[in-house]
Amino acid sequence: MKERETKDTKPETPKKKEPKMPLGGTGISWFYALMLIFILMFTIFNPFTDSKEITWLEFERDLLKEQQIEKLVVVNKEVAEIYIKEEILQYPKYEHISPSEFEPHYTMTLGSVESFENKLEKAQQDFLPEEKIDVQYTSRTNFGDIFPWLLPLGLLLLFWIFMVRRMSSGGASNPFSSFGKSTARISEVGRKNPVSFKDVAGLNEAKSEVMEVVDFLKNPLTYTKLGAKIPKGVLLVGPPGTGKTLIAKAMAGEANVPFFSLSGSEFVEMFVGVGASRVRDLFKKAKEKAPSIIFIDEIDAVGRSREKVNAMQTNDERENTLNQLLTELDGFGENTGVIVLAATNRPDILDKALLRPGRFDRHIYLELPNRSDRMEIFWVHMRNLKLGKDIDVEELASLSPGFSGADIANICNEAALTAARKKKEIVEQQDFIDARDRVIGGLERKGNIISPVEKNIVAFHEAGHAVASWYLKNVDPLVKVSIIPRGKSLGSAWYLPEERKIVTRAQFLDQICASLGGRASEDVIFNEISSGALDDLEKVTKQAYTMIAFYGLDQEIGPLSYYDSTGQNERILSKPYSENMAELIDKKVRDLIGTAYERTKQILVDHKAELKVLAQLLLKKEVVDKTDLEKILGERKTEILLDEKD
Ligand code: ADP
Repeated sequence: MKERETKDTKPETPKKKEPKMPLGGTGISWFYALMLIFILMFTIFNPFTDSKEITWLEFERDLLKEQQIEKLVVVNKEVAEIYIKEEILQYPKYEHISPSEFEPHYTMTLGSVESFENKLEKAQQDFLPEEKIDVQYTSRTNFGDIFPWLLPLGLLLLFWIFMVRRMSSGGASNPFSSFGKSTARISEVGRKNPVSFKDVAGLNEAKSEVMEVVDFLKNPLTYTKLGAKIPKGVLLVGPPGTGKTLIAKAMAGEANVPFFSLSGSEFVEMFVGVGASRVRDLFKKAKEKAPSIIFIDEIDAVGRSREKVNAMQTNDERENTLNQLLTELDGFGENTGVIVLAATNRPDILDKALLRPGRFDRHIYLELPNRSDRMEIFWVHMRNLKLGKDIDVEELASLSPGFSGADIANICNEAALTAARKKKEIVEQQDFIDARDRVIGGLERKGNIISPVEKNIVAFHEAGHAVASWYLKNVDPLVKVSIIPRGKSLGSAWYLPEERKIVTRAQFLDQICASLGGRASEDVIFNEISSGALDDLEKVTKQAYTMIAFYGLDQEIGPLSYYDSTGQNERILSKPYSENMAELIDKKVRDLIGTAYERTKQILVDHKAELKVLAQLLLKKEVVDKTDLEKILGERKTEILLDEKD
């Protein structure tokens, strides 16, 4: 969801002539020289001599019998080189053979030396009993043998030279020339549509803090003349999609300074040393353009605490990058006019050295928007849409608790797309509601064919959730139940989650019961259970473990928490408690879920008639909303106030 409105423009530093490297500078001439050496070697040691290859029969018939052989040289026990008597070479028959002393006139491949010797011995006895042929044995390293090795080596060498040459000559189109250069996107000052604080809805506290930093950049003198040091690093902390990038861009827009943005993961690449040099390059560029803002997204990719990496998982490259980042942060003075913003949603895992005073010592927390913030965010993103008259932003905001700014931006866009798909001229309220459902649950798959038997099970499963939660006081209000397949699920019960910061034990227990409603309904109605409750069971099990092991909500185990906010335990394989405690936790979780299940079943047994009516209605209508639910189940008695308090 990140809008990258930035351009890929490089700062206009004058093109420097880089000193050429000893090999790189030689350029094409080296290439030719190497080729020449290759060709020369090939011709000098050419394994494929002119000498003609002959067979034993030819050898015996034409040469041996005719007494034309001067000497034989057996090379490497493989080949016999045949030299013909000099005087015989004068015969016209041998005109085609050059009279060289060094090259054999014929060659003959041997099967084995012994059989060759035997055959030769016999032939000599038969044909030239009084003349002995001189046989020499030699071993030679043939260039032909090493050639297959040399070829790839040579090619590698050529490739390397080619690379070095390209790298040293640089050039915009050359990917290798950007090794170690920062890939930061820089947005220009005074662009046509700079992001401003107008585009950031809600987040008032964060905005006022950021304003202060903008003021540092605009009027540094006001602060420095009193001896104050301008902060160098600001850490934006918050869940994904809460507008960290947006607020950083808005800050650059307001201060009207260049904005360099780079993601932490872009520093950590597979090439050793690239990260550190990218950091160096990024800071260099930013200083050249000061006053400016550097924005490092997902800083946890580089800034993960060094202590927490276990022995099996060292990552030197990341550590080097982090060290370079720390050095750069220390290296530039307070008044250089460069402010580094970094974003993360895991400040707890960052290296302490990064958070030290003088580095990222200012923290701005961005939270998920509350209802009035959500309304503002809806307005910001509806600005450019052609809206119908029935738009009720208040309703949309209350229908989207727990949504981030990015989710809301997504809903607005989806709504416009939905309306366009229906060939409408304007975007109406229902489009927004459909878009919201789609964002939460995935696309409806009406075409997904389910057998009537399965549909029946799904209907009772969903009706089970609905009926159970209707009679549980501490469950979020139910909005509708549907058995239209959506995303991966075959049906769903839609609740309107309350925005609460704390959850009580009773609320936890009621939620677990509501989640077990589907499975319990199958059990009560069909006396048979199915695999359809996987998601529910997973959720319930996790919830029960967190209740007991993290929130200290079990009486016997007591107020203990094995939660680790530092993230250190994530990497440790052993658990921070004893075997006995592990067994006790497991038992408590099983008991808790078992009790909740029985309780849910009891509710459904007590209201079996309503359950059946609702399931039938679901099979007929596919979607049952709150009005129909009230008709079947009566008005819901609840302890929680439906109106949220901001
Ligand atoms: P983060 O960096 O925190 O993951 P972003 O800043 O990239 O999130 O947010 C993604 C998008 O969500 C933004 O481009 C914007 O459209 C929208 N958004 C998020 N928060 C807000 C907000 N407070 N006001 C307006 N739009 C927002």
